[in-house]
Amino acid sequence: MHFDLVAGGSADGRALVQKAAANGIRIRVISGLRSYEEQAALYAQGRTSPGKIVTRARAGYSNHNFGIAFDVGVFEGNAYVAESPKYKAVSVLGMELGLEWGGSWKRIVDAPHFQLRPAWALGLSERQMLAALRERREGNAPVYA
Ligand SMILES: [Zn+2]
Repeated sequence: MHFDLVAGGSADGRALVQKAAANGIRIRVISGLRSYEEQAALYAQGRTSPGKIVTRARAGYSNHNFGIAFDVGVFEGNAYVAESPKYKAVSVLGMELGLEWGGSWKRIVDAPHFQLRPAWALGLSERQMLAALRERREGNAPVYA
């Protein structure tokens, strides 16, 4: 199952969407890969542009910038549900797929967030992994290899 997620070269959430559906929970991927430019615009929100703060990560400091992270939304009918015990249920399914869940983080609890840690980053902190991901991107090296 872990292999299914990395087969496309990124964690795109399809396996988790299918697994949740099989368990009677409707989710959609509401945010996946973000460019540095998109991350910079998100970071500006609530700081130098209108709106409320939605991220603490500058460009290059989010796992979304490297295609290893995605956020899900729980849906009931066609309605997006921002808070629901279903997020916790989905987290169990995600972890069965080998994903890390943002809801288990100590500093910023991020229940919609899942990420697939590359094998080379298993012993690294988030900060170390992000630094290595930025280096790989600069060197045009693959994320997972
Ligand atoms: Zn996220």
